[in-house]
Amino acid sequence: MTATADAVAREADRLTELDSAIGDADHGENMRRGFEAARAELGEEIPATPGAVLMTVGRKLVSTVGGASGPLYGTLLRRTGKALGSGERVSREELAGALSAGVEAVAQLGGAAAGDKTMLDALFPAVEAMTDSGGKDFEAARAAAERGAEETVPLQARKGRASYLGERSVGHQDPGATSAALLMAALAAADTA
Ligand code: ADP
Ligand code: MG
Ligand code: MG
Repeated sequence: MTATADAVAREADRLTELDSAIGDADHGENMRRGFEAARAELGEEIPATPGAVLMTVGRKLVSTVGGASGPLYGTLLRRTGKALGSGERVSREELAGALSAGVEAVAQLGGAAAGDKTMLDALFPAVEAMTDSGGKDFEAARAAAERGAEETVPLQARKGRASYLGERSVGHQDPGATSAALLMAALAAADTA
């Protein structure tokens, strides 16, 4: 989570630039605000289990991010954390399964499907790559998320603010898919650390 906060801080300007093309130019700031609040909370007291860490960060995102991404990422992390249960250690396979549940919860909350040009276009392929490898290959998940984010460029947005643009949303990379790829990259980097 702190590696994600670092990546979000580093890439905030880029995320906002992407959101200025097909949204309201706040995605970088939304994510930065949420993950800095989460970082501060984790700095005060680290929850006892990996599941509790994710639930704590998820709650923080919901309470500090005003945009659509707050409840969506909040749901992703809370649901993933809940699915991890109360174990003090989590296997890669357990994390892959829990992340899959978290991503499903995002799809349910936002009503988006694959190809709608949202964060799910990075998250679905990441979870698939992880599940296919039996939870072993976080690097494949990172690469799949990044490819998924890049592949949102030719898509027309069917959910969220970008969908208001209709065909004019074509030709731009989705900001939320881009931040989702950052999250997967932070996870892959933490896994090999
Ligand atoms: P807002 O659009 O409220 O300003 P952000 O700019 O922080 O919120 O986040 C925008 C991102 O949220 C989009 O790029 C997209 O990836 C994601 N998003 C928006 N609506 C949905 C949805 N219904 N399902 C999944 N992701 C969505
Ligand atoms: Mg926005
Ligand atoms: Mg906004």
